[in-house]
Amino acid sequence: MYGKYAGFGRICGHITKLKRTTKPHWNQLPSQVIQQVAKRIHLGYEKFFDYLKAKKKGLSPRKVGKPKIKPRQKYNSLTFTQAGYEIEGNRIKINCLDKSFTFWKHRKWTGTIKTITIKRDNVGDYYLYLSCEDCEPTKKLPLTSHEAGADFGMKTFLTLSDGIKIESPEFYKRMLNAIRSANKTLSRKQKGSNAWYRAKRHIARLYKKIAEKRRDWFFKLALRLVRKYDRIAIETLNLEGMKKLWGRKVSDLAFGEFSSILQWTCAKYGKTLLKAERWTATTKPCSDCGYRNENLTLSDRQWICPECGSHHDRDINAAKNILQAGIPVT
Ligand SMILES: [Zn+2]
Repeated sequence: MYGKYAGFGRICGHITKLKRTTKPHWNQLPSQVIQQVAKRIHLGYEKFFDYLKAKKKGLSPRKVGKPKIKPRQKYNSLTFTQAGYEIEGNRIKINCLDKSFTFWKHRKWTGTIKTITIKRDNVGDYYLYLSCEDCEPTKKLPLTSHEAGADFGMKTFLTLSDGIKIESPEFYKRMLNAIRSANKTLSRKQKGSNAWYRAKRHIARLYKKIAEKRRDWFFKLALRLVRKYDRIAIETLNLEGMKKLWGRKVSDLAFGEFSSILQWTCAKYGKTLLKAERWTATTKPCSDCGYRNENLTLSDRQWICPECGSHHDRDINAAKNILQAGIPVT
């Protein structure tokens, strides 16, 4: 009404008022579940204000938009804090529904559960997320005193400074035919009909499958790297710029997702992730003597340093430079 953010406390107060007046059915839900909604709005605004502050200071942070009101079909998760549910084995009872559900318990958890979130994805599958406190820490991996720089590339997914090259399976590309034919099927259906929704869900399921396969591969690759190296250096990516330059393939390679997964895996097993600054020159300087080869073009895969005479593979040289410029991530 006033073009201002009301604040967390006032939203909570307003919810209490709504429960008394126009929305008495909200009383059936545990009050903490509703309060979590206000909390999410609050966090959204905090992030937005932080972004504005950083922008005023002249920094260039990741763009955060103003929180928007979501249509209710896009609101697809509920967070419970302490009350309102009971978990026993692989059964969860939601008290306000007075119903129990079986879930696929694919891993054990330790510690005490602080919050649970029930989430529905756009395929229509439900997931249970638990966040726990005082968990048993993961066993750290033994140190190997190896270290490596890693260069992301369009030709090879990852090139390590010791010469190992890892290709991307390009899951999206493999499924492209299936997606194309699914899209054709969708276009033949009458919009809004049952068959149309069925076809739409089918496409969503294909995309989900790609994302899951890719994620699985990322976790396995990250673990493989963390087992072998104590310190891994990567570059800070400019994803927006890359997407503009290269298009769909960058999204399929998902460098950003992989670097976050690598960061978690490193933290989990007691290894260090290093990051080279965003504007560090990685391709042109010679990793042996520091000579800057300005004549290097994109098509030069191999080159010889005119200063010290060492023979370089373009990507391996970049990986070595990344390792030299890396700063530990905290
Ligand atoms: Zn050189």
